[in-house]
Amino acid sequence: MDFGKYVRTVPDFPKKGILFYDLMPLFGSSEGFPRLIETIAESLPTKTLAHVAGIEARGFIVGAALANRLGIGFVPIRKKGKLPGAVRELSYALEYGQDTIAIQDGAIGKGARVLLVDDLLATGGTAKAALDLLEQVGADVLETVFVAELIGLGGRERLAGRKIRSLLTYH
Ligand code: IMP
Repeated sequence: MDFGKYVRTVPDFPKKGILFYDLMPLFGSSEGFPRLIETIAESLPTKTLAHVAGIEARGFIVGAALANRLGIGFVPIRKKGKLPGAVRELSYALEYGQDTIAIQDGAIGKGARVLLVDDLLATGGTAKAALDLLEQVGADVLETVFVAELIGLGGRERLAGRKIRSLLTYH
């Protein structure tokens, strides 16, 4: 299926000069979204997974649906200050300033096989931080799946050595 037909571009969002790839029409499509989840599920390695981990916020949409399809649990990687109880945090650099992500202690057991999911790969900063955090808690991340990838922003290079895959690519 051509999932790209459900993706629209929005100029100057969230800031002037940025062309935003909006995947909400794909997630909102009764034809496209179930097919998207099915396509990812069918393409996965046959090794048994313990969890799907998803990155706030659009990674939750794809990740939770995929986990449900696979009959396994979903683990959220959230922005700092959103998860209750003991958490492990990791800070990473943004173009201006820094951000911090967190995962709950005990959400993933040591050596547990995990699939990481996010909606879009751009510079790779977010996914790199999430992968580092998952590795710090002892997860065995089999691969990372993105619905879309913006080529030329350094994402693939930043994630060199990691197994990553995207369904749609944009130049
Ligand atoms: P990166 O850290 O530069 O790779 O940016 C990826 C993160 O920012 C992902 O979590 C995306 O949800 C979000 N993001 C960046 N650009 C876009 C876009 O054009 N559309 C949707 N999400 C985006």
